[in-house]
Amino acid sequence: VPERKVAVLGAAGGIGQPLALLMKLNPLVSKLSLYDIAGTPGVAADVSHINTRSEVCGYAGEEHLGKALEGADVVIIPAGVPRKPGMTRDDLFNINAGIVKSLCTAIAKYCPHALVNMISNPVNSTVPIAAEVFKKAGTYDEKRLFGVTTLDVVRAKTFYAGKANVNVAEVNVPVIGGHAGITILPLFSQATPKANLSDEDIKALTKRTQDGGTEVVEAKAGKGSATLSMAYAGAIFADACLKGLNGVPDVVECSYVQSNVTELPFFASKVRLGKNGVEEVLGLGPLSDYEKETLESLKPELLSSIEKGIKFANQS
Ligand code: ADP
Repeated sequence: VPERKVAVLGAAGGIGQPLALLMKLNPLVSKLSLYDIAGTPGVAADVSHINTRSEVCGYAGEEHLGKALEGADVVIIPAGVPRKPGMTRDDLFNINAGIVKSLCTAIAKYCPHALVNMISNPVNSTVPIAAEVFKKAGTYDEKRLFGVTTLDVVRAKTFYAGKANVNVAEVNVPVIGGHAGITILPLFSQATPKANLSDEDIKALTKRTQDGGTEVVEAKAGKGSATLSMAYAGAIFADACLKGLNGVPDVVECSYVQSNVTELPFFASKVRLGKNGVEEVLGLGPLSDYEKETLESLKPELLSSIEKGIKFANQS
C-alpha cells in the first residue's frame, strides 16, 4: 500500500473533528495532517492515540499552513463558518469565499498536485473560486478539483431505502446538479434496487434530499449544521479519491467538477476516479420527464452561483 498524505483544513471544527477521526481509521492513509487556525494540537493528540496506520500531525495557525500541506496527496477543506437557522448557504458566501481563496492560494504554492476535496459551502461557488485561484497561480488541473456532494448521495440512499423498503446497504442513487437546495437533483429513476414508487413519493424524496441540510439545522436548533453525516460523506469521498490514486479500477462517485455534460461549466454527476483524479465525467443517463424538467429549472440558480464565485475570485 503506497504512502499517502491527507490534509484536513479546518480540522478542529464540527465537521473537521469527526472527519479527522474517520480518516485516522482509513488504512490507505499513512500521514494525516490536521490544520486549523486554532485547536488542532488537542484534536491531533487525541486522534493520534488511535492504533491505526497513519502518523498524525497537528498544525495551528497560518504560519504552519505550508508544513501542513507539503507533500499532501489529498486535501479536504471543511474550513469555514457553520450555517445557523434561517441562514441560507449563500449567506455564508463572503466569509467562506475568503477562507477558501486563501487556503487555495496556499495549496497552489505547497501541494499543487494534490486532489482538492471542497466541503466549505456554498460548494456551488467555492469550487469555481478554487478553480480561479489555481488558474491565476498557473496550477489549475480540472482533474484534481472536486466539490464534495457525497452527503446528497448519502441522504438520497437513506431516504430511498426507507421509502422503498429495500436494504440500504445495496442502494445506489446518482445525484446530479449542485450542492444547495433546488440545485440538488437525485435521479431516483435510476435508483437500484428498483422499486415502484409513485410520482408523489419521488417528489417528496427529492424535496427531502434537497432540504436535508435544513432538516439538520432546524433539529440542532442553533447549535450548528450537519457535521457527523457530512464527515462520513467526506470520508467516503476521500477514500474513493485515494483508491483512484492507488489504481483501484472502476471507482465511481458523484462529484461537482468542471464538466461539459451540460452547458454549465461546473456540474455534479458520476465521475470515474483514477491515478490523476478525474478519469472520466460520466453522462447523465436516461432521465424521467420530472427529472428533465427539474434539471432545466435548476440551471439558472446553479449558473448564477458559479458566476458569483468567479466574480468574487477575480475582484477581491
Ligand atoms: P462546521 O460545522 O461547518 O465544521 P465549524 O465552525 O464547527 O463549522 O468549523 C469550521 C472550522 O473551520 C473551525 O474550526 C474554524 O476554526 C476553521 N477555520 C476558519 N477559518 C479557517 C481558516 N482560514 N483556515 C483553516 N481553518 C479555518
